[in-house]
Amino acid sequence: MRVQLLPSTIDENGRASARQHLLTMVIDDRVAIDAGCLAMACSLEQRANIRDILLTHTHLDHIAGLPLFIDDLFASLTEPIRIHATSGMIETLERDIFNWSIYPRFSELSNDNGAVVEYREFSPGERFKIAHLSIHAVPVNHQVAANGYLVTDGTSTIAITGDTAETDEFWKACNEARGLAAILVECAFPDEMEVIASVSHHLTPKRLKSELAKLETPHIPIQVINIKPMYRDKVIGQLQTLAIPNVNILELGRVYEF
Ligand SMILES: [Zn+2]
Repeated sequence: MRVQLLPSTIDENGRASARQHLLTMVIDDRVAIDAGCLAMACSLEQRANIRDILLTHTHLDHIAGLPLFIDDLFASLTEPIRIHATSGMIETLERDIFNWSIYPRFSELSNDNGAVVEYREFSPGERFKIAHLSIHAVPVNHQVAANGYLVTDGTSTIAITGDTAETDEFWKACNEARGLAAILVECAFPDEMEVIASVSHHLTPKRLKSELAKLETPHIPIQVINIKPMYRDKVIGQLQTLAIPNVNILELGRVYEF
């Protein structure tokens, strides 16, 4: 399974930066998890192939590129873009984003080939297929209803938390999955921002260490994602100090093979 976390911002030289403002994870150039920077950072091949987008939740950094991605493709689509989301997420998107004030209600529009958007609803805890992937949606603990996912292509399985604070169900699902190739886990804030991490339901390095203690298999590679860009160096430094085994920082833009 090829996994790429798309870059979301540029540095002072105009090159892709390691700082992550937005989240879009592309699997096998075909399925996107979240669409924070999908329209802005995907390759031409990805733009041509991705028609399935699975959302973890509806916070802006996870959906900002979704309206623009649909807009870019509007006239050329020969099949709708399928947005895989819970009923609550769909309601939020329709009410707060695709409401004509913020952006067009694409679900009411079509091009010469038919509908341009189709919602595929699932419930937290459900297992379902998207393209060639099997998905297990696991509710996590965030400020709004959010899911983490276990994703398998039949050969390998990875897990991604999305945004979350302390949670048990996700780690239980990881323990039951066995043979996980990698777990992508958030760590948004440095330890000294414990209060804001708590209020906004995110992890800090210390909290992450406690969470990883829930894993029964200690050797699974852990890839850290979703570090708030302004605290990136601090969070990485604190993670290094904690010296948690198997923990790495996922590089933006790099294609990983799991
Ligand atoms: Zn969030």
